[in-house]
Amino acid sequence: MIPAVLPTYNRAPLSFERGEGCWLVEADGSRYLDLGAGIAVNALGHAHPRLVEALTEQAGKLWHTSNLYHIPAQERLAAQLVAATFADTVFFTNSGTEAAELAIKMARKYWYDQDQPERVEIVTFEGSFHGRSTGAIAAAGSEKMVTGFGPLMPGFVHLPWGDHDALEAAVTDRTAAILIEPVQGEGGIRPLPDQCLKGLRDLCDRTGALLILDEVQCGMGRTGRLFAHEWAGVEPDIMMVAKGIGGGFPLGAVLATEAAGAPMGAGTHGSTYGGNPLACAVGSAVMEIVADPDFLDAVNRKAGLLRQRLEGLVAQHPDVFEAVRGSGLMLGLKCRAANTDLVQAGYAEQVLTVPAAENVVRLLPPLNISEAEIGEAVARLDRAAGTVAAGLAAAG
Ligand SMILES: *Cc1c(COP(=O)(O)O)cnc(C)c1O
Repeated sequence: MIPAVLPTYNRAPLSFERGEGCWLVEADGSRYLDLGAGIAVNALGHAHPRLVEALTEQAGKLWHTSNLYHIPAQERLAAQLVAATFADTVFFTNSGTEAAELAIKMARKYWYDQDQPERVEIVTFEGSFHGRSTGAIAAAGSEKMVTGFGPLMPGFVHLPWGDHDALEAAVTDRTAAILIEPVQGEGGIRPLPDQCLKGLRDLCDRTGALLILDEVQCGMGRTGRLFAHEWAGVEPDIMMVAKGIGGGFPLGAVLATEAAGAPMGAGTHGSTYGGNPLACAVGSAVMEIVADPDFLDAVNRKAGLLRQRLEGLVAQHPDVFEAVRGSGLMLGLKCRAANTDLVQAGYAEQVLTVPAAENVVRLLPPLNISEAEIGEAVARLDRAAGTVAAGLAAAG
């Protein structure tokens, strides 16, 4: 019999009652060190006092009015994002998928308004993930995501990762935009080298194509800059944000330059909940904390420490691990053993990690993880790797 909850997830046999910082606690009091952070959502860990305060204060005043009216909390968060980034304007959504939908519409509308309605194609890359809507699965195009859901939305051109010649050939006078994650998340923590992001920007400047960055997972301080593209010193035309920006409250956003955003006038797009006062009150508090240069410096220090400790872990378990990769506190352990075995063994050591493609185990801890917790995390991963190595040895 089908469960009451539609079984689209293979869930681990764990459930949590509360959270404190980097820790998740089961009803019986067992404490798990959370290196997944709800897939990079709990950027400030669980039950951060400033976020709890922002949410409860707003909850006592006003939950929802709709975008028929001005929403001061939304205007405030938009102003914070505009001040801190390349963007001139922001549209709020409830998720990353919805941000992908608007980014696609925005790129097409831009060319429609330029009297080039044939420029509809969006170039995307193998291994990418942009969400689960019909548009977002068509954009990513992987077999696993699209099988059974055709006909797919047309207009996406899928390229292999890192093939410059294919890229040059694919961008034509029908290309509306290039859409890419600066660091692939689901795809296995694959950072796009800074040089390549610069190259994409140049290609877009030469051809007029818009550059859309999906920073849903790698943005909001995750790599040690507020947004990952800042490392390369280039700016997109459109950027998708979600996950960390709400710190656990559903919130997403599309950020755009004036040129890219201007064609989206009244009536061209909408959302009932997007930019709701509760979400934006929390988002503002997250931005206040994460956009602070001292906070980002601390993320970089901790990232350096975690990476160094993980390099040691990989060296100690050469049968289990192959390499560390990633950027900032968005790290991947490329495995020789099955990544899911390591994630499982982690549960026994009460440490939570997340599998990704390419046999990678993802580590996306809260950005405010302490140095002591990093030590504890690596000690637990070390024991988990020991279990996996012993299993490999027993299997011969
Ligand atoms: C999670 C994710 C999305 C989709 O976000 P949802 O909030 O799950 O809809 C899109 N792009 C990237 C890079 C993601 O990691």
